[in-house]
Amino acid sequence: MAITDIEAARSLDALDAFRSIRDRFSLPEKMIYLDGNSLGALPADTLPRLSAVVAEEWGRGLIGSWNSHDWIGAPQRLGARIAPLIGARANEVIVADSTSVNLFKLIVAALGARPDRTTILSEPGNFPTDLYIAQGIVDMLPGRRLELVPASGVIDAIDEDVAVVVLTHVHYRSGYKHDMAAITAAAHAKGALVIWDLSHSAGAVKIELNAADADLAIGCGYKYLNGGVGAPAFLFVAERLQSELRSPLSGWMGHRAPFAFSDDYAPAPAIDRFLCGTPPIIGMAALERGIATFDGVDLDALFAKGQALCSMFVDLVETRCAEFDFELLTPRSADARGSHVSFAHANAYPICQALIAAGVVPDFRAPDTLRFGFTPLYTSFEDIWSAVDILREIMRTGSWDQQQFHMRARVT
Ligand SMILES: *Cc1c(COP(=O)(O)O)cnc(C)c1O
Repeated sequence: MAITDIEAARSLDALDAFRSIRDRFSLPEKMIYLDGNSLGALPADTLPRLSAVVAEEWGRGLIGSWNSHDWIGAPQRLGARIAPLIGARANEVIVADSTSVNLFKLIVAALGARPDRTTILSEPGNFPTDLYIAQGIVDMLPGRRLELVPASGVIDAIDEDVAVVVLTHVHYRSGYKHDMAAITAAAHAKGALVIWDLSHSAGAVKIELNAADADLAIGCGYKYLNGGVGAPAFLFVAERLQSELRSPLSGWMGHRAPFAFSDDYAPAPAIDRFLCGTPPIIGMAALERGIATFDGVDLDALFAKGQALCSMFVDLVETRCAEFDFELLTPRSADARGSHVSFAHANAYPICQALIAAGVVPDFRAPDTLRFGFTPLYTSFEDIWSAVDILREIMRTGSWDQQQFHMRARVT
């Protein structure tokens, strides 16, 4: 359905089943926040919860809170809450460390399970940390190599020498979504494992790890899961692989009996072996509130709303900003993309800054990409209409071309 004015957008909001879910967040007034794919918004109960964790659990309970408030169970408890969002069983997901560190652990573990194979296969343009971590591992482990092939050639490039395929499910820049089941099946046919980076898909699109027979996955807590800046990350290991794979970061929390204080490492029998050190309890508490923003939500309907937001945004930019040379980088087909939309533009950086100054917050990805993330829990159809309206105004008046919008900060 084509939307031609703000009233039409408002009537879509009036029918939106998730309208009241927006109240689960504390969003700044008069800001249209389209960057929940990079840093999710603050849930309304995170601040009171953190204050209770610090004042009561830490301040009063002190060391006893490891047991009395089950701090020790946080990695598994939060993992079990993330599991339904990614189509996994509760005992296959834990929360620990950062996405980068979890990727390190799982790549090395996967290589260890395929000792006679040399290759880690990924795609050029994958998220930088994914490539850098793989490069670091190759430098550390003689005889292993990293091969990069474009997305369209990945399946053909999987051969008997590939130990592990490392792909980001939804590409951070283009929003392109890989066919998880097809790539996993192709890898299994050649005896390879696959690690899926779910950073840009968990909480944004339907993910069926078990149905796709997925092996391994990782993802961020601070993007669509709303866990707060630098939130701990999650990792998934299929049950059938848990006793076979070994974490290279053999810290005490992954030990079979951490409080036996024995001198020799022995990995925990199940997914707990992928823990390393003491869990960051304050960050865990914030992430738990972030995950709770999905409580009681019909995920299929939520993701359908995300797709409707994306489609409406693409249509509006292409019709209302047609003369301003935005080039769509994201697949048009809803099945082939995540919940963000990117446009390339020669002046993407100053346009992004001008949008932010006008109260619309997307982000910029070097060298030329404007990225707009749609979080169906709190983005409204009116937000989409207004964002495009403001973009059109900035382009029409040329107001983006002011000196202050060209100045680059450390984080762009
Ligand atoms: C955001 C993101 C990361 C971030 O990793 P950190 O260790 O949290 O910095 C990793 N991979 C992908 C694909 C991402 O989008």
